[in-house]
Amino acid sequence: MDWYTADRIFVDGRFETGVWLGVEDGAVRAVSRERPQAPVREFGDCAIFPGTVNTHTHAFHSMLRGCGDDLPLLEWLYDVVYKHAADFTPDDAYVGAALAFGEMLKNGITTVVDFFYLNGRGNEYALATIRAAEDLGIRLVLARTFMDWEKAPATIRETVPDARRRYGELAAGYGGHPTVRICPSAHSLYAASPAMIEAAAQAASERNTAWHMHVADARGPEEAIKRQHGRTTVGRMADLGVVRGDLVAIHAVYVDEKELDLLAERQVRVSHNPAANMFLGDRAARVARMRRIGMCVGLGTDGGLDNNTLSIFHEMKLAALVQKSTEADPQAITAADLTRMATVEGGRIAEQPLGSLAPGQLADFVVIDLSDIALVPGDRLESHMVYSMSDRAIRHVYVHGKAVVENGRLRGLEEAELRRRVVAATRRFFAAVQ
Ligand SMILES: [Zn+2]
Repeated sequence: MDWYTADRIFVDGRFETGVWLGVEDGAVRAVSRERPQAPVREFGDCAIFPGTVNTHTHAFHSMLRGCGDDLPLLEWLYDVVYKHAADFTPDDAYVGAALAFGEMLKNGITTVVDFFYLNGRGNEYALATIRAAEDLGIRLVLARTFMDWEKAPATIRETVPDARRRYGELAAGYGGHPTVRICPSAHSLYAASPAMIEAAAQAASERNTAWHMHVADARGPEEAIKRQHGRTTVGRMADLGVVRGDLVAIHAVYVDEKELDLLAERQVRVSHNPAANMFLGDRAARVARMRRIGMCVGLGTDGGLDNNTLSIFHEMKLAALVQKSTEADPQAITAADLTRMATVEGGRIAEQPLGSLAPGQLADFVVIDLSDIALVPGDRLESHMVYSMSDRAIRHVYVHGKAVVENGRLRGLEEAELRRRVVAATRRFFAAVQ
């Protein structure tokens, strides 16, 4: 067993002193109040905190960082995302994912759900993305997307039989993997036909996993759905029979109170991405209310094209501020709520024992430098994790009991080499947008 200690360790919702963590085979095996009779890695003036869970992103978007700024949704989607995605190769998918995963790890994200939709030419792009996660050492849930929107390019669009078959092949290949899982996702009501949504939901049932879907995410598509079906997104999904307990609803912004009650009753989990919603000019999801009615809500960064920072610590603070402001109540949501959302509830969305440092939980944690000026004085450290934390203070990151960031540097890939590859691969995109 490997033992770790630091000045403070986050256990049972608060920081404690005099704690030793025992780790073996990728999991926490012991949380001891007595010094073990074994060598211990001592981090000294640091705090050990659970790794954060990013419940929603599109990793390859980081390749295009800065190209999608200050645009209306449909221009953002057609003129930036789809235009460039049409030209993506599997190697681009690898480099883009490595860039995103590297940034996430350095910012304390140890698990990411990548809502992955470059599937139109087969599984090669998905496999390249998985390889990037393995090389960097981040824990990955690949939410493999089912979508058949005619407006999407051939690198993205699929038929229902192709999506089913390719999904089955991919999922079968990662059954017992320690750090990679596959689950299905349906893009959205506007980008997937009812047959495609049904196929994704069925794939989830067959393999007993969650499935993800963008739900009521943006004003424009929501208005179009109302015009086309005379129903809201959630109403239409209820008609299709897909408001189910295994659904993870991404965004859930344009949802009224009755619909929220339905989502809560069906135990739908929600991924809240405050930066991305605001970046694209949408209002905030009603997260404080969701939590009051008992819903599980995790946090997500969304992609590097509508945020453009991949940090759950950032999202924690933003989510808190937005709820306090929109509810006109500083007590609408607390630091403890945000911490749970970023860790334990993210683990429930990733469907793995993640988010707390307790025996049986996966050994994913960050080591935070308490001498960083953002955390001084350190008496209210639980609140600092939400309101004053700087990603700069993250010194080491462990995933599955293994150091993947040491002294602020990635261990899996040489950062200068990663930067060279990103610059070489993106030259053509940036030339095209100038
Ligand atoms: Zn998304």
